[in-house]
Amino acid sequence: MDLTLPPEDLAWKARAKTFAETVLFPLELELEMNGELPRATKGALRSAVVAHGLHGINHAVEVGGQGCTQLQQTLISEELGKATNALWAAVWHPAAPLKHGTPAQIHDYLTPSCLGKRRACVAVTEPDAGSDTGLIRTAAMHNGDRYVISGEKWFVTSFDEADYVIVHALVDGDPAQPTLFLVDRDAPGLTVERHPKFTHTYAFGHPELRFERVEVGADRVLGKVGQGLDLTKDWFVEARLQIAANCLGASIRAFEMANDWAARRVQFGTSIRHHQAIEFMLADMAVEIMAAKSMIYRVSWEIDQGIDRKLAHARASVVKLHASEMAGRVLDKAVQIFGGRGYMRENPVERLNRDVRVDRIWEGTSEIQRVIIGSQLAKRGTGPFTDWYSPP
Ligand SMILES: Cc1cc2nc3c(=O)[nH]c(=O)nc-3n(C[C@H](O)[C@H](O)[C@H](O)COP(=O)(O)OP(=O)(O)OC[C@H]3O[C@@H](n4cnc5c(N)ncnc54)[C@H](O)[C@@H]3O)c2cc1C
Repeated sequence: MDLTLPPEDLAWKARAKTFAETVLFPLELELEMNGELPRATKGALRSAVVAHGLHGINHAVEVGGQGCTQLQQTLISEELGKATNALWAAVWHPAAPLKHGTPAQIHDYLTPSCLGKRRACVAVTEPDAGSDTGLIRTAAMHNGDRYVISGEKWFVTSFDEADYVIVHALVDGDPAQPTLFLVDRDAPGLTVERHPKFTHTYAFGHPELRFERVEVGADRVLGKVGQGLDLTKDWFVEARLQIAANCLGASIRAFEMANDWAARRVQFGTSIRHHQAIEFMLADMAVEIMAAKSMIYRVSWEIDQGIDRKLAHARASVVKLHASEMAGRVLDKAVQIFGGRGYMRENPVERLNRDVRVDRIWEGTSEIQRVIIGSQLAKRGTGPFTDWYSPP
């Protein structure tokens, strides 16, 4: 069994580390203190992503992406996840279903998105439809050869940075026809209802949108009519692994800082790391991170080996659930080790502690991951979680 990482994978990791440390880290405090980044800074950030060759890492070279393997994407996301304020989001991952676009859609949407000339955001969640996508009501009514979309979408991450929205809507209001549509941001009838504030300080926002009779041509259907949920499934695998890797990176940065602080901080005549309560916290953090890293790398590698799609889905849920909950525990300990300094917003550990909370909520809550794992156990037994991959 060879667990070494090949030089090309390590090179991607090093590239992302340099980007995080030289481009993202210097923006953290400004974003935290002002609540947003100036427009010019956002533009410079976009250019820096391209200059570092980190644009479109999840898409093939032929369509303008970097053609990274899943494991390479994980290594990149781990390094980017070390940045606070979810600044990793500055490195766009054009949504996976765009791969299923027509040649014209690939030309007009996917390729420019990989190159940083366009950017997508994704609108699935509604006020009455969160975990239960069966409750989605946004409808796309046929009108000749066009569709008229009406509905409300919440938490649309990075809408302000995007120039088009991938919208999940029901064709003719029929729950059996969930479908993805490409809607340009400036389409008449598409408006922002509200810009709520969230726990984390995030560069791009998560507004609530209203679609009031927004018209699109049939050429804006992504994939096939009725394929909406199916296309979203593969995407969840990629997104859940990305979240897990971000959580890993956040935990590692906080762990390194806490370990260093525990050596330097002297109370009661000795470094606080020599108080066993602190030493044990550090030991637990080491164990948590090592376990999570092993799991995330393993499942990423297995996906590159071509494991069955359903198995990938089940294992991505395990990885997302474990990594996001692990990050919550590790970050909480890191704050505690810093004492009052761990509660100051100028401390990256304080910001990371807030940042990782949402990782137990978005792209499927922890409870929904358990529902997925539980249903796989009922259908396929314990194998998907206890077996080891061996090539066919
Ligand atoms: C910052 C942020 C950004 C987001 N970005 C996007 C985005 O870009 N696009 C988008 O479409 N959505 C986005 N979301 C929405 C996100 O995916 C949903 O918030 C999430 O899926 C949960 O849905 P909900 O908030 O409606 O909670 P609900 O589904 O109402 O859940 C409430 C609680 O009930 C629990 N629960 C629900 N069903 C079950 C069950 N069967 N068993 C056990 N417990 C259950 C949940 O786990 C949770 O604890 C974002 C959310 C946030 C907070």
